[in-house]
Amino acid sequence: MRTVVLSGFMATGKSTIGRLVAEKLGLPFLDTDAILAEEVGRPVGEIFAAEGEARFRDHEARIIQPLLADGVPRVLSFGGGSMTIPRVRHAALEAATVVTLTATPETIAARVPSPTDRPNLGAASVLDRARDLIALRREVYGECHASIATDGRAPEEIAACIVELARRDTVAIPLGVRSYVVELTHGRPDVLGAALKELAPSSIVTVTDENLVTMRGAWLDAALASLGLRETRIVLSPGEANKTLASISRIWDAALSEGVDRQAVVVAFGGGVAGDLAGFAASTLLRGVRCVQVPTSLLSMVDSSVGGKTGFDHAAGKNLLGAFFQPSRVVIDLEHLKTLPPRERRAGLAEVVKIALVREPPLLELLESRAEAIARGDRDVLRDVVRASVIAKMRVVREDEHETGARALLNLGHTLGHALESHGGYARWLHGEAVAIGTVLEIAAAERLGLTPAGTSERAASLFERFGLPTTVDLATVDAAWPYVMSDKKRTLSAVKLPVVTGPGEGRVERVELDALRAAVTGAE
Ligand code: NAD
Repeated sequence: MRTVVLSGFMATGKSTIGRLVAEKLGLPFLDTDAILAEEVGRPVGEIFAAEGEARFRDHEARIIQPLLADGVPRVLSFGGGSMTIPRVRHAALEAATVVTLTATPETIAARVPSPTDRPNLGAASVLDRARDLIALRREVYGECHASIATDGRAPEEIAACIVELARRDTVAIPLGVRSYVVELTHGRPDVLGAALKELAPSSIVTVTDENLVTMRGAWLDAALASLGLRETRIVLSPGEANKTLASISRIWDAALSEGVDRQAVVVAFGGGVAGDLAGFAASTLLRGVRCVQVPTSLLSMVDSSVGGKTGFDHAAGKNLLGAFFQPSRVVIDLEHLKTLPPRERRAGLAEVVKIALVREPPLLELLESRAEAIARGDRDVLRDVVRASVIAKMRVVREDEHETGARALLNLGHTLGHALESHGGYARWLHGEAVAIGTVLEIAAAERLGLTPAGTSERAASLFERFGLPTTVDLATVDAAWPYVMSDKKRTLSAVKLPVVTGPGEGRVERVELDALRAAVTGAE
């Protein structure tokens, strides 16, 4: 059981509900405002007024951070503004299940008889201040595992919802008002059914492929049956060769001929290809309808379903067309991996190794220490790997949603990987296999350029090999694939932004001249 944090506006019942939740979960309850008041020896309103907001927030951070870091599960009721402190918010979202309690300004005004003990009220009327705070904190309070409106609802009822939520395995992707939750489960189509119900769609547009319909169609039908909604299902031919504008057109045509409206939800049910296509189609249908990602391949669970990159391929190269468009939900049911061919499972691991190499030392250690169990598809270890990868991806996306900085690190192995994939006509290698080869080639080149410590490419190659992934290709093929490097998105006229590994689990993006890269890749002087 993880810690539960109740955050949100004043007078939404955080303490009352928090006590009830703690009782039901058998956990201690702490009110961080009360701890602060006791420690300083005066009410929080007075501390705020006397010391100012910056000092007040420092007090809050000092009290809250150790409570999140010690691994002891508790129920914590936060002060109204605690989540405005980024370091506190990020720590809470990683260590706890965070629930935002909301209420309308009118409800808040009716519940606050006197403003004297409220730090943030100042001279304004309670109603005006509540309106201001709700508008000001929309982005901050949007970052949570669930938001619950408390107006007219009994504390017991709300506490029961929170207890149910706390037992789920979820990761929050904090992106202000575009935040969403990734839920991990096993053999539970009802989890998707419930997620869709919460979104209250007018109809469903499902994008999937033939393999999924054959092998996981029963799961999908079970998930959608309880909704009783009209479903338009687009079943594509499987494979990267179909990640094209023609497939996007099929989705548009089917949805529009069914007369979908803006309350429709697109469900991406499949691997990264279905996910990228469905996400892009959703971003453009009627200028944008909501999308729920239901990844079924390991690659799409650990990488492509999270972060909002969508799009399709062009004859000039891979993923050259697309948009950033965040899903509203991601539902990962690990049972889907049962029918995933082992070669596809291995290919999915390439993206995990990639993110571990540049960002996540503990994930790198997990991969190296449990490589054989992971390669065999051990259910429990895979769940840990998927969860750790989603968290790793969340940290990158939180920092850099639109790839202007840290997110570019995730392109490690993709400059050459994409070129090899395109050159191979999407038939010779799976995406993950091309990424494994590309990663080893790029790291070896960075070693030759003095950007990466010697021995790193060997360490990466050895891990890929333990997962049964290819790591080499002949130089003639690299030469033949080079024209595709020239049409890469990450390229400027004469250089490419290349992610390089700078230590175990650490990396940065370097600008490397294309000629120098080519010489370093082919080993030429
Ligand atoms: P994919 O969608 O082609 O799926 C691989 C194969 O496995 C397909 O044949 C599919 O039918 C089958 N499959 C999937 N789930 C299955 C299951 N549970 N049981 C049986 N068969 C199953 O490819 P992928 O490897 O999932 O994804 C690769 C794509 O993802 C590439 O196009 C790549 O560019 C993209 N990608 C996108 C991002 C992003 O951030 N958007 C990140 C990484 C990769």
